[in-house]
Amino acid sequence: MAFCRVLRYTDDVTFPKAPDGAFAGGSVELDALRDEYEKQIFDLKQLLEVSKSLNSTLDYKNLIDSILFTIMGQMKVLKAGLFAKKGLDTSVFSFHRNFQGFGLEDGIDYSIREDHELIKLFQIGYRSYTLAEISERLGGFNGIRCLESLDPSLVVPLKAKGMVNGIILLGDQIEGAEFTEAEREYVLNIAIFAAIAINNSFLFEMTTTDMMTKLKMKHYFYTVLFERMESAAKTGQPLSVIMCDIDHFKKFNDTYGHSCGDVVLQHVARLIHGSIRTIDLAARYGGEEFCVLLPDTDAPYTRLIAERIRKSVCDSVTEYEGLKLQVTISLGVAQYDPPRDISAKSIIDRADKALYRSKQEGRDRVTVSD
Ligand code: GH3
Ligand code: MG
Ligand code: MG
Repeated sequence: MAFCRVLRYTDDVTFPKAPDGAFAGGSVELDALRDEYEKQIFDLKQLLEVSKSLNSTLDYKNLIDSILFTIMGQMKVLKAGLFAKKGLDTSVFSFHRNFQGFGLEDGIDYSIREDHELIKLFQIGYRSYTLAEISERLGGFNGIRCLESLDPSLVVPLKAKGMVNGIILLGDQIEGAEFTEAEREYVLNIAIFAAIAINNSFLFEMTTTDMMTKLKMKHYFYTVLFERMESAAKTGQPLSVIMCDIDHFKKFNDTYGHSCGDVVLQHVARLIHGSIRTIDLAARYGGEEFCVLLPDTDAPYTRLIAERIRKSVCDSVTEYEGLKLQVTISLGVAQYDPPRDISAKSIIDRADKALYRSKQEGRDRVTVSD
């Protein structure tokens, strides 16, 4: 993860002076003007670093950390926090903080709904706010207890394409001073880059996520599988994949209808996602087929995970319009074998063949590829 350098022009930085006589007839005014421009150039260079740093990651979690570190370093504050949406289909901004961040109190809901007056206030114009300025504009805090409790010294809306997509909270400055107008303007520039980076991260999520199941799509799965195979070939660490397919799903659709089938598909996707580690990757391979990538995992252990997934699907009941429904899945497992698997497609094909054997041998079972 790339974090940008944390200097600001207010730091103890020595700017190179022009050689004596560079300004013929140099005056105090000219010196002051030159100093001012040098400071502005320095800040612009810093903003360029901030932009490069924030745009170097599309991973949401890393991005949030990167924004918080950048804000702390650039604004010289003791703590920073960020309200942002956690998923694609939420209307709530949730609070994120780093390890040194704002303390949280029990019994307070640290989230802000997107239809709250505060967000509407942030939609108008583009500026930062102190708590007092927010209270004055809204006539109090209108139920956002979390903002009062966090007691930030400055609140900075994040806006991309005219829409609020986050809120940055700044703690007190290390030197204890109030933010100057120039600093309030500077943080808005950082906020613009942060908002664009969050927007890019969401766009990336949208283009790589299957909206029905919320699992990743096949093309993204293949990209990650290829990268993991390359690194496994270098490190010698094992790597495995699981292919899953819902049993007799055509009949299920014919019996209960496609809408009911969709609910079951979503349910199975949740069970698969809930059965794997955060370093694993589950994707919707197509129709009613799913695949899972398990780094650092050999075939015998992957078989156990596949069994766990199979059992959780087989044991669980989905409710749909008063009906209690159950499905089973068949699974195939393959471990990456560098001499044999010359491409990502090759290991998937082997897992798929193992899955086919599970189907032939009676379904609702796991088969490991030779
Ligand atoms: P098998 O046990 O051999 O896998 O039998 P199957 O009926 O599951 O296999 P088949 O490939 O013949 O049928 C797959 C079915 O999955 C057909 C299709 O209606 C259903 N399906 C694929 N995508 C979706 C979807 O997005 N929603 C719903 N409801 N059904 C889907
Ligand atoms: Mg199928
Ligand atoms: Mg099927």
